[in-house]
Amino acid sequence: YGFESEKTKGRAQARARCGKKGKPMPVDQSVYPAKELCSRCGFCNTSLIAQVQDACAFLGAGMARIDQLEHTVHGRPRQEEELYFGVQDGLRPIQVAPEARTGRRAWTGVVTSIACEMLRSKAVDAVLCVSSTVDKPLEPKPILARSVEEVLQTGGVKPMLSPNLLPLEELWQVRGEDIQRLLFIGVGCQVQALRSVEADLGLKELYVLGTNCVDNPRNAEALHRFLQSASETPETATGFEFMQDNRIHVKHSDGRYERIPVFSLKEPQNCTGVIAKSCYSCFDYVNALTDLTVGYMGVPWQGGRMTEHQQYCVVRNERGQKMLRLSQSVLELGQAEELQVDGRLSRQQLLPEVLRPELDLAFGQRKPRPEPPRWLAELLSEVFTWLGPQGLDFARASIDRATLRNLVCLEVDLLKKRAGQQMELDATLPKHAKKIRSQYQELFETLLETYRG
Ligand code: FAD
Ligand code: SF4
Ligand code: SF4
Repeated sequence: YGFESEKTKGRAQARARCGKKGKPMPVDQSVYPAKELCSRCGFCNTSLIAQVQDACAFLGAGMARIDQLEHTVHGRPRQEEELYFGVQDGLRPIQVAPEARTGRRAWTGVVTSIACEMLRSKAVDAVLCVSSTVDKPLEPKPILARSVEEVLQTGGVKPMLSPNLLPLEELWQVRGEDIQRLLFIGVGCQVQALRSVEADLGLKELYVLGTNCVDNPRNAEALHRFLQSASETPETATGFEFMQDNRIHVKHSDGRYERIPVFSLKEPQNCTGVIAKSCYSCFDYVNALTDLTVGYMGVPWQGGRMTEHQQYCVVRNERGQKMLRLSQSVLELGQAEELQVDGRLSRQQLLPEVLRPELDLAFGQRKPRPEPPRWLAELLSEVFTWLGPQGLDFARASIDRATLRNLVCLEVDLLKKRAGQQMELDATLPKHAKKIRSQYQELFETLLETYRG
């Protein structure tokens, strides 16, 4: 990034203005303060590292800080009915208007379109987002984009841990020169660290736009290992998503789309260790500290390509409303009721069956088993999609799954490390994770018993 060689004068001045700066760790650093739980969010690669103990989502009180930060950022705590999706002014289906869809590299492009409109309307001077290189489209390269053309290049998910906070160092150096108002795009662990130091960034305005996030591969090797298990031609994959039709959709550079039933992964036991440890310790699927979150899992399955599927958004405060207002010419918003669809089986009925293979994988206990014939795997995906939860209830089921799995993983890990000592896990859990656990207390205890070994 060339931070050290350029603008060193600006940096020295910035440091003089704020006493809380430390020496950034190099990007190839192997051990970070949060050790194996580190999500490589980029914070420690900036001079903000001096505040890591208070900002990192995996140190000290960790994600329990979300409760207080929600109050600070949105002006009020999460209410009972906001248990799953966080503080909100509204929750709506959303998609890019058909006439605005041309020439984008994004998945569906909602996030990219909002970012472009924020720049076009001059609401912000720059957008901190994740680009990639042409030869490695799945590998993240966070940038400080200053033009619509640059933002358009950043569309699409790079499914890997990404050091999104790294360009803050560049911002710090040029602050006061031309970037006073910033739009940050990122996922929960990155946003938590950012919100913790927001007051020290010295920005006039900060807008935060985020996506849902879960189960991120820890690096390029892990990602490719997963793709080998999922795709017939992993070498041409340019993106993938686990969709509501219980299939993994893979987009390829030659324009093909694969739709692989989740039941027909090749040698799924080879996926052990693909998901980063941080993501097994994460309780912020819905990115609760953004001003506006975008995702797909709350929309009832509509068929077709993932890149054309409707998304949903959670508007959390006035800044989120403003982002939508400024983008209204390129977006189409649906009605909240469209997301409320009843499934035939409840998520509570399905959860135990879904959790066991996930926990086997997490604990490296997944056994090789014969792959079911493709027709059977397709049938199972169809049946589960038809029977299972839909719309917002599908999203709640996904949140339940990730929350319970992570609670079991953390508790078992702690038990191993501390050999029978009193657990202190609860001090690091946000309230919503504890409430979800209490809804499934019996299942939680059974799973704990099974995996504590
Ligand atoms: P686009 O317009 O394509 O923009 C995507 C934006 O995401 C870009 O601005 C880019 O800056 C940013 N970005 C890309 N990769 C990363 C990264 N690695 N880290 C941080 N920011 C990044 N949604 C769900 O509903 N359920 C899920 O389970 C789910 N899992 C996800 C897992 C991961 C690892 C990620 C990164 C996202 C996940 N999402 C999930 C969000 C979903 O994939 C889409 O990003 C979201 O729906 C927005 O789509 P879009 O077409 O509007 O985004
Ligand atoms: Fe530093 Fe981020 Fe890793 Fe925490 S998660 S140790 S803040 S790089
Ligand atoms: Fe960060 Fe959580 Fe996403 Fe992992 S799942 S990258 S810890 S927000």
